[in-house]
Amino acid sequence: MSAQARRNKKASGSRNFVLYTAIIILIVVLLVVINQVQKKNEGENRELSVAPSTESQPVLGDANAKVSIVEFGDYMCPSCKQWGETIWPQLQKDYVDTGKATFSYVNVDFHNQPSITGAVASESILQSYPEQFWAFHKALFDAQPTTNHDSAWLTEDKVVEVAKATVPTLDEAAFRASLTAEEPTKQFELDKALYQEFKVNQTPTIMINETQIANPFDYAAIKAAIEQNLE
Ligand code: CA
Repeated sequence: MSAQARRNKKASGSRNFVLYTAIIILIVVLLVVINQVQKKNEGENRELSVAPSTESQPVLGDANAKVSIVEFGDYMCPSCKQWGETIWPQLQKDYVDTGKATFSYVNVDFHNQPSITGAVASESILQSYPEQFWAFHKALFDAQPTTNHDSAWLTEDKVVEVAKATVPTLDEAAFRASLTAEEPTKQFELDKALYQEFKVNQTPTIMINETQIANPFDYAAIKAAIEQNLE
């Protein structure tokens, strides 16, 4: 190899080095940008074209309220229990008790059979003892263990125990039979169709009319979305 050829090779080698370095820097910059865009989207509420229908769902509060709050929840979900204990009391006090908003709960079954047992039991109570629905709903979340919440605690016997404690006039045999009956199961299937329609992929998911709240534990964001709908 002549001296000229060696010089050319060396020059082309350093050109390649510069090129590869530039490409690597570009890739890193792109990855950082993509990551930040994703983070931004995760932190933003999602605006949908319609609010979820609350027909045949439990509705708490003044039916004429301008705002409809919908929780997609699961009795097996620890975050839902936490949401009910931390965010819900303030939300109820500020907006549901004051007649500004209604609150509805839609069943999701992300924890398989135990979720379904809880969901169908709640549909059965709603159907047969609507006055006691919210007491049962709260008591079932209260029954969720704070540790080892994935254990098989949500059984037929557990929902019967909770129902007996919250519905004084409970017909236990009829309630037990209803857990595999057609009507409450059909009601739960409606919920399933609803959460699939709204592409709910985590619980709790909170909707304020057509707005899906990015972080259900951000009370200020929930409040802002409600206030916007009250204007
Ligand atoms: Ca339902």
